[in-house]
Amino acid sequence: MKKMKALVKARPERGLWMEEVPVPRPGLNDVIIKVAKSAICGTDLHIFRWDEWSRKTIKTPMVIGHEYMGYIEEMGAGVTNLKPGDRVTGEGHLACGYCRNCRRGKEHVCENSVGIGVNIDGSFAEYVRIPATNVVPLDPRIPDEWAAIMDPFGNATHTALSFPLLGEDVLVTGAGLIGSMAIAIARYAGARFIVASDLSDYRLGIARKMGATLTVNPSKGEKISDTVKKLGMRGFDIGLEMSGSPAAFTEMISNMYNGSSISLLGILPSDFAVPWSDIIFKAITLKGIYGREMWETWYKMEMMIIGGIDLNPVITHRFGIDDFMLGFEIMEQGNCGKVILNWE
Ligand code: NAD
Ligand code: ZN
Repeated sequence: MKKMKALVKARPERGLWMEEVPVPRPGLNDVIIKVAKSAICGTDLHIFRWDEWSRKTIKTPMVIGHEYMGYIEEMGAGVTNLKPGDRVTGEGHLACGYCRNCRRGKEHVCENSVGIGVNIDGSFAEYVRIPATNVVPLDPRIPDEWAAIMDPFGNATHTALSFPLLGEDVLVTGAGLIGSMAIAIARYAGARFIVASDLSDYRLGIARKMGATLTVNPSKGEKISDTVKKLGMRGFDIGLEMSGSPAAFTEMISNMYNGSSISLLGILPSDFAVPWSDIIFKAITLKGIYGREMWETWYKMEMMIIGGIDLNPVITHRFGIDDFMLGFEIMEQGNCGKVILNWE
């Protein structure tokens, strides 16, 4: 049996181990992708740390990872629309195709969704197997490193483009790996003012490069309400909650304009005192966001990249795969944007 290198969550404890595992074989409708570049997601960091969510979700041993790009190596006999050598990435949520949601075109909220690198073996490996229906062929104008982060760019796109942005004032709470990309999308889509908050000055620096009008660091006593005054707004038209922080969400609510809309990507805890009466009296629309819409989000990402959006400021570190630990350490410490791991 052919073997390959892979980053394996081998044991139920903190850490991640480079191991030799069998190269996956394609089923009838699968492809095998030779991975060229990987990126580290916040989810991978959760699994590395072995936090409460990971302990509930991950069955060891498991090859983790779901942000990558590469080339088709091998295909099942049923695959007719692709060919070996095609430069591709993949949607990491595998939808069943037959549940109520799949059949009404909402595959991102499939009842039976399976996550690459979370529920089944992932892409921190020399080769990854996915169904051909999940393959995204890459336009030659999409750079390799950007292709490797289309999964989180897709979260940002789905969140940011959930409401029309042209001429609107946008608040992004949490200018992290995904929030910073949402800023560039809001800029691209014609927003007027974009204010971003984060606890990290390093990340607020990236936010400004991505197009934020003003940035706010609440850990230094800075207030979103001051930016509302400074920019002469009545409040924000659109909120993109990308921190998962109750404090950030509460401050967002108090700075939204009447009749505004909020997309919620950050995973807020279930048990905090949400200012419901403000949400009701301001007539705020709330929308929960999960994953990427298949396949509208992917189409819009491709169009924005070809149209000239710049994702470069968000990619801050690059390592060879054998130095993966350096990548996880810098992610843990937080003074970084996206971290790319090269397999070549
Ligand atoms: P990230 O950790 O890179 O970004 C979160 C940022 O929020 C950090 O930079 C942090 O400093 C900042 N933050 C924390 N408290 C804050 C506060 N009080 N005010 C302002 N900023 C604050 O994570 P990410 O990868 O960008 O993901 C963003 C969120 O989206 C996370 O909660 C993640 O779990 C969630 N997520 C959801 C989905 C989904 O499908 N719904 C998918 C991916 C990620
Ligand atoms: Zn389904």
